[in-house]
Amino acid sequence: MKKKALVAFIAFLAGCLTVSAQRAADYLNGPFLDRLNKDASYTHLKATITAEFIHAQPGNWGEFVRGVDEDIKTGKKIIAFTFDACGGPKGSGYDAELIDFLRKEHVPATLFVTGKWIDANFSTFLTLSKDTLFEIENHGLNHRPCALDGESEYGIHGTANAASAFDEVEANARKIEALTHRRPVFYRSATAFIDEACARMTEKLGIQTISFQILSGDAVPYTPAKVIERNVIDHVSPGAIVIMHFNRPAWNTCEAMRLIVPQLRKMGYQFVKLEHFKLVGKAVRRSSIP
Ligand SMILES: [Zn+2]
Repeated sequence: MKKKALVAFIAFLAGCLTVSAQRAADYLNGPFLDRLNKDASYTHLKATITAEFIHAQPGNWGEFVRGVDEDIKTGKKIIAFTFDACGGPKGSGYDAELIDFLRKEHVPATLFVTGKWIDANFSTFLTLSKDTLFEIENHGLNHRPCALDGESEYGIHGTANAASAFDEVEANARKIEALTHRRPVFYRSATAFIDEACARMTEKLGIQTISFQILSGDAVPYTPAKVIERNVIDHVSPGAIVIMHFNRPAWNTCEAMRLIVPQLRKMGYQFVKLEHFKLVGKAVRRSSIP
């Protein structure tokens, strides 16, 4: 009888693993986008948005162009740590040590993930999305900088046209929503570069594009923790958004955070996720957008 129960339990576990492997396969970028392109709610919106932007001028290209926010509007001593997971050749790793540190220290953070990174870290992604310490936001489906004309940055080609810009932003928003039951409200373009037309496009999708105020420098491979620490501490101000990464465990992001967090606490700073705050862009205020 005991043996029978054990066999049944093993069969049950094997069944669970098969179901979760199938679920992960269903949500891979390729099959997921194929399904969206047969879904009328997606194709109608894509046709409308594409028609609106097909002849638009891209406008300026950069990290701080019109329509992009980079700060929390506040006088309070709060700071938002944001960590990107880029995926593909830009790294599909998972910095477990960093995430463990944030949990141990109760430091909330906003995680910007790509569809590619989710594909490589499916069960880890689901676990992170259920942890209320973290907010999951959108870093694009394939980690392509959002452009109307294929503009590139750091050697990464941007999206080639309005339709592919739409897929990069909206398909990943829907993928995250399908897996977490929460639609992301923020988008950070791959490399943080975007053109002004694409920033307008994301607004039409109800998604706010953000960049950052403090460039930690952790994405330059093997930047020493001390340098990352100075980049953050020397530039901190109320409401600053800091950009870092959690997809490169060999880099020094975690070591830097061990130095940064106690100092900021001593300076009176509290750490927040982005979702409950009004954001502003310094370069051009949002009220000036036509
Ligand atoms: Zn990235």
